[in-house]
Amino acid sequence: MQRDFKQLKNRKFDVLVCGGGIYGAWTAYDAALRGLKVALVDKGDWASATSSASSKLIHGGLRYLETFNFKLVKKSLTERRMLLQTAPHRVWPLRFGIPVYKNSRIGAFRLKCGLALYDFLAGDMPKTQAHQYHSKDDFIKHFPCLDPMGLMGGFTYFDAQTDDARFVLELIDGAISAGAVCVSYCEATELIEQNGIICGAVLQDKVNDEALRIEASLVVDTTGRWSVSFQNDKGSYRLTKGIHLIMPKTVTDEALLLTAQSDGRVFFVIPWYGLTLLGTTDTNYEGDIDKVTITSEDIGYLLGEANHVLKTTHWTGQDIIGKFAGIRVLQQSQDKNPSNLSRDWALKTSPNGLLSSIGGKFTSAREDSAIIVDVLCNQLGKPSVCQTFGKTFPWLTHTDYPALLDSSLLTAEQLGIDNDSAVWLVRRHGNRITEIFQLCTENPALVKRIRPELPFIMADFVFCAKNEMTIHLEDLLRRRIPLLILAKLSPDEFNRLANNAAAILSWDADKTQAEIAGCLQNQDIDWDFEK
Ligand SMILES: Cc1cc2nc3c(=O)[nH]c(=O)nc-3n(C[C@H](O)[C@H](O)[C@H](O)COP(=O)(O)OP(=O)(O)OC[C@H]3O[C@@H](n4cnc5c(N)ncnc54)[C@H](O)[C@@H]3O)c2cc1C
Repeated sequence: MQRDFKQLKNRKFDVLVCGGGIYGAWTAYDAALRGLKVALVDKGDWASATSSASSKLIHGGLRYLETFNFKLVKKSLTERRMLLQTAPHRVWPLRFGIPVYKNSRIGAFRLKCGLALYDFLAGDMPKTQAHQYHSKDDFIKHFPCLDPMGLMGGFTYFDAQTDDARFVLELIDGAISAGAVCVSYCEATELIEQNGIICGAVLQDKVNDEALRIEASLVVDTTGRWSVSFQNDKGSYRLTKGIHLIMPKTVTDEALLLTAQSDGRVFFVIPWYGLTLLGTTDTNYEGDIDKVTITSEDIGYLLGEANHVLKTTHWTGQDIIGKFAGIRVLQQSQDKNPSNLSRDWALKTSPNGLLSSIGGKFTSAREDSAIIVDVLCNQLGKPSVCQTFGKTFPWLTHTDYPALLDSSLLTAEQLGIDNDSAVWLVRRHGNRITEIFQLCTENPALVKRIRPELPFIMADFVFCAKNEMTIHLEDLLRRRIPLLILAKLSPDEFNRLANNAAAILSWDADKTQAEIAGCLQNQDIDWDFEK
């Protein structure tokens, strides 16, 4: 994957997709597979906004059953099922536990009914995936971190997890292979109209500071929270903020769905690259959409609620390893409580023909994007059917996933890569893992982990820097390999990684310093001075 702004020049496109989060990625991929001439641009890195700040769940959303949104749950569960088959490296099973305490807001009977409905809406599933009730002793064996006081038992149920930023990247790579021109750090600054109808846009190359007028028969706005300014339409939707904290390891292979004591909201404790992802919040947001900040109230809420139910933690701010914030775009409603607002997706057509994707979920973005592409094809007079349903993911040409996993683990062992890192390598790269093995064969020093507690090896770092359209240091250290989120790096470690990246990307000393400064400016880094 290489960035090439020149490819946008002197061509007329059928479709220009603005915004390379999950909605833009699926739209560009499906449209390119259907034979349209597609350009996809993002003003930053791929998935640099909400699509790398989600809870990383591919799920139906158990809690939406409480608001009777069965349609959304069913749709998402259908997608979950398909993704587990078409992308077993990208989407993997994750079992959740829900403890039942004496004073739980939702008692065991209601929970049992909800989980039975959740399983039913998921369609045919193996018995092993169905929800289960566990006695108190058994449940504590699954989750020794829980406070046993008042615990009566608990349920476990099936859902799935992903790495959201890599999910988007893989689709962008697929779109490029299908013929789309995909350029990051390229902002659509103005829409061009002819007789009141959009016929292109002005694009600003943010790497070489060059502007370009691009012709496109149709333009799709998948800019997420920036849609408001893009369409010049205030008022039809509402923004809410959700934050996550990365905490030390608490759960192993199973996650927890917990209920907050203070307001009855649900929040998650999820295993993530060997650590814990704690989230999320849901508060109305009216601040700067370009710089979303995490407040001490956000942090206090999550730590307080977690400490309330996790007896082994007593977490303080000192224990926070990393943090990130995302913004939900929700349809406007009179309801004051953000958690009650619908997560439904909508496609809006403006009088000038601009198609805007509003709201939605990471899990169901494929199906929603297929609707966008249906509309595009109809308007272009090229009706066609969706190409992404049931299609194996771009980085999985190997159809027998268990065989790929087994053979990869064996090769990894022979090369001296530890088992945990090898499992994550398969998840992160699919069958491209052979290229990582090649790097390790050429230079055995690359089998070493970057940090002892994280399953990333140096060969992964080298591969991502070289092959994954890494433009800035932050792209590499935050989304390709999220070290800035998953570790408290020491200044020495950070500089060493920056210099490694510089050597791979042929940056001179000035450029490297500028990248370091840029990265530090955008990051809220907690340095680990003990290292
Ligand atoms: C806290 C939180 C947790 C969530 N957890 C889950 C979950 O576990 N599972 C799930 O299914 N869903 C989850 N969601 C929902 C999901 O993350 C979002 O629905 C999804 O990521 C939105 O994707 P998007 O493509 O619409 O927007 P974004 O990812 O925000 O992408 C918009 C892109 O447009 C670009 N852009 C903006 N303006 C321009 C311009 N002028 N020119 C070019 N590019 C531009 C931006 O740089 C950005 O990359 C969560 C959401 C939040 C906030």
